[in-house]
Amino acid sequence: MSSAPVIVVTGPSGAGKGTLIAELLRRMPELEHAVSATTRERRPGEVDGREYWFFNPEEFERRLQAGDFLEYRVYVSGKRYGTLHSELERIKKAERICVLELETVGAMAVKRCIPGTVTIFISASVAELERRLKKRATETNTEIGERLRLAHEQLEQADEFDHLVVNDDLNRAATELERVVRRELALAARIKP
Ligand code: ADP
Ligand code: 5GP
Repeated sequence: MSSAPVIVVTGPSGAGKGTLIAELLRRMPELEHAVSATTRERRPGEVDGREYWFFNPEEFERRLQAGDFLEYRVYVSGKRYGTLHSELERIKKAERICVLELETVGAMAVKRCIPGTVTIFISASVAELERRLKKRATETNTEIGERLRLAHEQLEQADEFDHLVVNDDLNRAATELERVVRRELALAARIKP
């Protein structure tokens, strides 16, 4: 079984977490995204089991009661998101390195639960988040407003994570993220007994 650290990518909505993770996985095929479960609606182009496991509220609750989640959070508009134990186990068994994309509270919870977890905060200015979320246009203006209000709080927590990557230029940020992950993996391999 793999003893590599779990990599958690966090930060506000619109910072580019999903985009950067997709690029990171292209550059480092040994990494694998642990697919979270959510009760939010599927966006155009999203596939069940790829971006998320899309559960209805009853199914999410049933899985919660069954103890299937390592952590979960209610994000904006009352939608739930949770990390499935089964995803972490599947990736570990395959001797691959697990990458999670989580909001900030979930990121800290995983860090507490799994020793050696590496947390990476992806950042951009609030003005830039607003511009990106409006251009992405996957949420209503009301929901974008909720996400931006939360972003103010999340940006203040940035220094509580192990690394900070400012996603200004996408290619530059992807290269920095890759460098951070490679360095952390090398470090963990060296201190492994
Ligand atoms: P998150 O997963 O953090 O919510 P996304 O990866 O969905 O963010 O990115 C939000 C939007 O911003 C997407 O439309 C994406 O194409 C765009 N984007 C991501 N990174 C950059 C960047 N460096 N410059 C400009 N636009 C970006
Ligand atoms: P989105 O709706 O934009 O896909 O995700 C909203 C937020 O939920 C993002 O910050 C994303 O990182 C976070 N998220 C996704 N999956 C999980 C999860 O399993 N647990 C937690 N705590 N947050 C998650």
